[in-house]
Amino acid sequence: MRIERAVNYIGTLGPGKRLCVWVNGCSRRCTGCVSARLQEIDPTTEVGIEEFFGRFSVDKCDGVTISGGEPFDQPAELSRLIRYFRERGVRDILVYTGYTIEELRQKRDASIDEALSGIAVLIDGPYVRELDDQKNNLKGSSNQRILFLQQEFSDLYEAWMHDEREMQEMVLGNTLLAVGIPDEKFLKKFRNE
Ligand code: SF4
Repeated sequence: MRIERAVNYIGTLGPGKRLCVWVNGCSRRCTGCVSARLQEIDPTTEVGIEEFFGRFSVDKCDGVTISGGEPFDQPAELSRLIRYFRERGVRDILVYTGYTIEELRQKRDASIDEALSGIAVLIDGPYVRELDDQKNNLKGSSNQRILFLQQEFSDLYEAWMHDEREMQEMVLGNTLLAVGIPDEKFLKKFRNE
């Protein structure tokens, strides 16, 4: 699977301390995408799921967040990845996608259906800059929906969500990384504008 990076114990992309995974490659090209650097397919990001994630303490995180890039552009690999986490006891799996759930279901792809059956919460739909209200700390624009595919997680997420966005900054190698849903003020400062 093409994985750009994964970082454990992130507190700004869902409840608790989470293992966050960014996949490489996105065919959707939304204007204002904060992950534009991850859109181009980079074959050097190809990894074996077991080999790559075997290095992480999956059993110690509260949940997993999968973002990108577009996770559903690699449907077979995504369903394998979700199965990998579920087999290790992770139930709180949050996935961001630029597709709506209706578009995904219309594809009639067994891997997509399997992936959806293992996801607890799906944030669906493309990021639309004009619809970014700068508020919700779990999603970028108001057209995106927070879909509880497993209803048992709704109380946990409702309690965690609020209208002030927070970012977690860290240094990975020689790169400064900011994780979360950024507001304009943060982006300007981060980009030194
Ligand atoms: S779907 Fe997500 S990653 Fe892809 S271009 Fe849109 S915002 Fe960026």
